[in-house]
Amino acid sequence: MATLKFNYRRDFGWGPSGANSTRVRQGVAPHYSGASRLNLASKSHAACVSTWKGFRTFHMGPSRGWADIGYAWGICQHGIVMEGRGFDRVQAAQPGGNATFQSVQFMIGGSEEPTKEAIEAFKLLRAWLRNRGVGATVRDHGTFISTSCAGGPVRKLIRDGVLTGGAPVPSTGGGGTGSGSNGGMSSVRSISSQQKIVNAAGYTPKLVVDGDFGPKTNSGVKWYQKKIGTTADGLWGRATETAHERFTGVVDAKPSPRPTESLQVDGDFGPKTTAALQRALRIGVNSNFGSGTKKALQKKLGVSQDGIVGPKTVKALQKKLGVAQDGKWGPITTRALQRALNAGTF
Ligand SMILES: [Zn+2]
Ligand SMILES: [Zn+2]
Repeated sequence: MATLKFNYRRDFGWGPSGANSTRVRQGVAPHYSGASRLNLASKSHAACVSTWKGFRTFHMGPSRGWADIGYAWGICQHGIVMEGRGFDRVQAAQPGGNATFQSVQFMIGGSEEPTKEAIEAFKLLRAWLRNRGVGATVRDHGTFISTSCAGGPVRKLIRDGVLTGGAPVPSTGGGGTGSGSNGGMSSVRSISSQQKIVNAAGYTPKLVVDGDFGPKTNSGVKWYQKKIGTTADGLWGRATETAHERFTGVVDAKPSPRPTESLQVDGDFGPKTTAALQRALRIGVNSNFGSGTKKALQKKLGVSQDGIVGPKTVKALQKKLGVAQDGKWGPITTRALQRALNAGTF
């Protein structure tokens, strides 16, 4: 049986979404990318990652100026769910349903049809959402406003009941709640951690540990998967993690060093970094980057405390950290934050 595979925001080097939280519960709204074909089915998944990042750059750029990528989710032709704004955020996807329907963009365009992997991933994502209280309704973008989205092929799949059927609510499986939580999910390791492991295993030339999943990292991960005896598909999922644990357990039986109190400067804005930030802000520590933490951060940075970490807050943060002020919270900003938290200078 196919399993739900996610690529999370942190896999793309993105910080938490700047979009407001809300309960998005009525159903799912499929989209496509537009009139032009994307032709991603015949390319490696690295191309999907860069396309997804490109959508966000465009959505946050001068022609849109949104707080984040417009969609909650994407589904690539390889059957990977790409986290956009993620679960329970107000979206910029289907006016009239931005706070009520979870937008899901099939990463296709024109007359391209979703692959069977993409269709399967949609069904699994929908079941996962159903399990979290999202309603059964499936309405494409064109049922909200006049648009060709989600395109002929997806509309036909909805009409034919392929995308609307069943959606059993699973009693087990799923798990994970978006960024930072990978329980049971396929994306079990951050990109920078994968890069470090590949390097440590003797891969040459060494990968740059930048948290960016490009063709070089793809090749490095495949090399490592082959070495540890698992499917070399470049996707670090549960099977790869298990093989990795088995492999390192045999090869390196040394006990792992005692964790120190300081954060790893890995550019991942995860629960540990959040907890350290909360300690530095002298607020309750729950490792959750919620609106209380965001407001406390904004207070510290001297920007308006609206609980939305958008470009203004990020620029103020970057200014404080002494890194380039592009208003986008990526691995460079997180690494600078981690260094400052470790040094006690934040
Ligand atoms: Zn659309
Ligand atoms: Zn893909």
